[in-house]
Amino acid sequence: MDKNALRTLSYGLYIVSSFKGDKMNGQIANTVIQTTSKPYTIAVAINKENLTHECMTASGVFSVSVLSIDAAMKLIGTFGFKCGRDIDKFADLKYKIGVTKAPIVLEDSLACLEAKIIDKIDLSTHTIFVGEVVEAEVLAKGEPMTYAYYHNVKGGKTPQKAASFIEEAVKAGPKKEKSMFRYVCSICGYTYDPATGDPGNGVPPGTPFEDLPADWACPICGASKDKFDRE
Ligand code: FE
Repeated sequence: MDKNALRTLSYGLYIVSSFKGDKMNGQIANTVIQTTSKPYTIAVAINKENLTHECMTASGVFSVSVLSIDAAMKLIGTFGFKCGRDIDKFADLKYKIGVTKAPIVLEDSLACLEAKIIDKIDLSTHTIFVGEVVEAEVLAKGEPMTYAYYHNVKGGKTPQKAASFIEEAVKAGPKKEKSMFRYVCSICGYTYDPATGDPGNGVPPGTPFEDLPADWACPICGASKDKFDRE
């Protein structure tokens, strides 16, 4: 079996949110699809270990925010690589509570949907939730983020708990000048490339990893410098 065949599948990038009691949570998902149009239904695969799975199971509803191609990597990092059991992902964020009472992320989002769960499929590690769409709204004009754009242009990685995670061996890179080594975050997989720097955090292109300030942190997941390994 050639696992690369799976990499040719196309996806978008979404924030799926729900709640349990007074606890709200959301996470990045690339597996949202429309399944029927009479009635309008959508489906999404969610890892059973995720807090969002617990929230969706408890409340029976979920929202989907469609991320724009311009979505901030920090937003994707918060919802894709951090756990709602440790932090409040909605703190300091533009969001609203929808008709289903599910929270809806508005930041960097082009559209949002709300659904009532009508069916579930157990896939051992994940559950596919099928929901009937009860509310839908276009929030802004723009181009929706695709998973390919996230990977190829934004340099994003796939968390291990994602439905589309494909295991790959770490490749040994070619020998380079010390200052040109790239470093990979062992938590989220973000790659620091000295050629591009980290302009979002005031690090200009051409800055070697070694010269980053001691308090510099991974722009995706917030991990400290010592969590990075040379590529
Ligand atoms: Fe990271």
